[in-house]
Amino acid sequence: MGRKKVNSQEHFGGPCHLLSPANKPMPLNPLVKRHIKRSLEYIAAHFGPHRWPSKEPKLWVLMYHRVLPADAPEMQDAEPGMVVTPETLDLHLKLLSQWAEPVFLEDWLARSAAGESLPKRAVAITFDDGWVDNYQHAFPVLKAHNFPTSIFLVSDWIGTPQMFWPERLARILRIASQLPKDDAWLNTVLGADFQHGKAPSRKQLAFIFARCKQWDDLAIHTKLDDLSNRLQLPPPETTTLLNWEQVHEMQASGIIRFGSHTRRHIRLNEELSAELAHTEICASQSLLEQKLSRPVSLFCYPNGDHSPAAVQEVREHYLGAVTTKRGINDLHTPPHQLFRVGVHNDVSSNAISFMAKLSCWL
Ligand SMILES: [Zn+2]
Repeated sequence: MGRKKVNSQEHFGGPCHLLSPANKPMPLNPLVKRHIKRSLEYIAAHFGPHRWPSKEPKLWVLMYHRVLPADAPEMQDAEPGMVVTPETLDLHLKLLSQWAEPVFLEDWLARSAAGESLPKRAVAITFDDGWVDNYQHAFPVLKAHNFPTSIFLVSDWIGTPQMFWPERLARILRIASQLPKDDAWLNTVLGADFQHGKAPSRKQLAFIFARCKQWDDLAIHTKLDDLSNRLQLPPPETTTLLNWEQVHEMQASGIIRFGSHTRRHIRLNEELSAELAHTEICASQSLLEQKLSRPVSLFCYPNGDHSPAAVQEVREHYLGAVTTKRGINDLHTPPHQLFRVGVHNDVSSNAISFMAKLSCWL
């Protein structure tokens, strides 16, 4: 099974500090830090590129994952940086409707490919993974604003109790009364600072997930299957993903369209075989088209990983695809490597912080 080196600092960056005269790091006072952050957000929100007049059409593609009320029990196993509350989503849609023209991503791409005119400032909303909370908590808000939206589904997992491996692992760490101390894989991913008998903090969880990414997705699921069997854990009480009935109801509303996010949420990196990449990219599209009775023209790379071979395969079968790279799209952006702006509650729960995100400066 593939294992690759991951530098966790690449994912989470180092601590913010100044250098003292003796060149020793001097931590910033939290109040000063907050004040600097707010000032930078204010500048970005009011003077960033999203405020500049443009002669060329520009497209912002927003990336969401989960929508959960602040007190939802699901919050305890949710991966950090993945959630907005329904209130925050409502605020975002209100602000976006005033600032740009909402579009379906596939419509913008089709009009761009045909050389048709496009709005100078367009915004497309996307949700990754097909969480059931998209139906429960996002759909009512999207309907209220009549906001065109694309949801990327993991085709083989719709209507199943399957969970993504970060939530599976978080749940195991939360409910297992005792974890084995002799499991080399578990010890590696938990890290030296993990304390048995104490639930990991959200920050610790983020580092644990980053360490897991040394293994390929199917290998991680196999490890978690073994661990769950060994610990004799009960199956989860609730499902986390959408079912076909919910998908069909959302499609019938006319404001939600669906794209592919592979068959089993497999990262399409260099280590993946061409054969496996092909089936994840193409079989997911065939299944979705058959179930939805309409063409599926958009693709979303799991975890943002996209090898050149995967991009080529996606280019042959889809009109466009989204990455997790931050940026603003224009007519020169490759349609199969579109930029997005990732938003979640910790960084966009008020108007200033949200508009600052659209600048792509912070
Ligand atoms: Zn995903």
